Amino acid sequence: MDHHLCDCTPRLKRRLCYCGELPILKTSWTEINLGRRFWRRRLYGKVGSCDFFDWADPAPHERYKSVINGLLRKKNEVDKEKVRMGRNARIYKIALWMIVLFIVLRSML
Ligand SMILES: [Zn+2]
Repeated sequence: MDHHLCDCTPRLKRRLCYCGELPILKTSWTEINLGRRFWRRRLYGKVGSCDFFDWADPAPHERYKSVINGLLRKKNEVDKEKVRMGRNARIYKIALWMIVLFIVLRSML
């Protein structure tokens, strides 16, 4: 069995980039490769860096992708809801103070 052709285990052994430098392990945050790690030059995109790229993790299973993306969507919904609730709480606090102020002012008349 040729292990070099197998894509089932992480390739965490660092190999040199095209110009002989050590790449760094990074994590993808794109929807199709969420959480998948890859090797890239530290200064990728900057002058003097090559475009070396190599996946460290095998391609995720379709089911895994849909579960992770579903969880990420849910998390974003919860984050939005938290912001909305925080805004409502501030409005209620202001309204409460206005009522207190109104009561105090009325009692002074
Ligand atoms: Zn290089």
